[in-house]
Amino acid sequence: MADIIIDHVTKRFGTFTAVDDLDIRFSDGDVTCLLGPSGCGKTTLMRMIAGLETPSSGRILFGERDVTQLPPRKRNIGMVFQYPVMYPTLSVAENIAQPLKHDRSLSRGERERRVEEVLDLLDMRKQARAFIDDLDAGSRQKVAVGRSVARQTDIVLFDEPTTNVEVNAKLQLIRTFKAVTQRLKQTIVYVTHDQTEAMTLADRIALMKDGSIVQYDAPRRLYNDPSTEFGGWFLGNPGMNFIAAERRGNQLHATILDSPLDVASDLGGGEIVLGIRPENVLMHSEPGPGSVEGRVTEQTIGIAGRNLARIAVGSAVIKVKADGPAPVAADGTVQLSFPRDRILVFRNGARVTL
Ligand code: ATP
Repeated sequence: MADIIIDHVTKRFGTFTAVDDLDIRFSDGDVTCLLGPSGCGKTTLMRMIAGLETPSSGRILFGERDVTQLPPRKRNIGMVFQYPVMYPTLSVAENIAQPLKHDRSLSRGERERRVEEVLDLLDMRKQARAFIDDLDAGSRQKVAVGRSVARQTDIVLFDEPTTNVEVNAKLQLIRTFKAVTQRLKQTIVYVTHDQTEAMTLADRIALMKDGSIVQYDAPRRLYNDPSTEFGGWFLGNPGMNFIAAERRGNQLHATILDSPLDVASDLGGGEIVLGIRPENVLMHSEPGPGSVEGRVTEQTIGIAGRNLARIAVGSAVIKVKADGPAPVAADGTVQLSFPRDRILVFRNGARVTL
């Protein structure tokens, strides 16, 4: 069993720093998703864990074992890539069995038992004899996962494995990944730029930006309690609303507040911004306690069937997600309220607790 320890790892390509002094531990048996926008360094980090890149400085350990200088084949890890590497002339079962052939500690019976177990986990018993070329991209990727997990290595790395799978098959594939990872208890590092995938699969998400991990937390925590404005913006579809606030003494004033918000006296200077998720803003047709007036500028129906409205309040435009359309009054206005316990405060981009 193995924690993955990233000990002050930096990776430079020429003068460009792709991974910047990362210091983090991915726990044994956890599924960790490396999530972040394109170019944030997630693939580079995963490639260093795999041994496909060497850190410019720092160490990588699997448990007690320092693997920093070890080539990939000596690290005893499984890997699943965007483009699965397989034998097209062999069947599904034969492809899964292939990596086990090199393991001399396994008897033939044990190998067969492992293949059966993996076929069950992937729910692919019926396709055991099918050839790889006859499978769709999603099923091929399932076989790739089967090949990687069959060896029962302590660590399996996934590099954006659903990129080339069409949308409908993708959900099914993620469900299979989830079932397999929950069952096998291997330590998984999974690179993705797809937040839904990360939210579904991960025990913990490492949210990355500019070569650093900005937050490492359980998905729900990351969503509800982002430690940075970036986290609030990146997660969510659409992301969090941000509204400029002005500090006067121990109070914050903003267009979305009908009365000021009390804050601690040691909040410090800098730019203060209030954040609230679109689904936490409430809409009413009549003014009520705490409500402020707005005007709908746009309404659309979102992917999950929820309506998304953009509502101008003073100089701010607020995104609101709700089950129905905005209840616009006869004079064209709508009333919004912002529950205080749903408002987060950020100072210079970082979350502050009140
Ligand atoms: P994506 O989702 O687009 O793959 P990523 O978060 O995985 O992005 P990386 O592939 O890790 O990002 O790349 C991080 C940065 O390092 C990028 O700006 C990339 O151009 C740069 N980079 C990666 N590999 C190399 C390389 N071999 N030589 C030079 N620059 C590189």
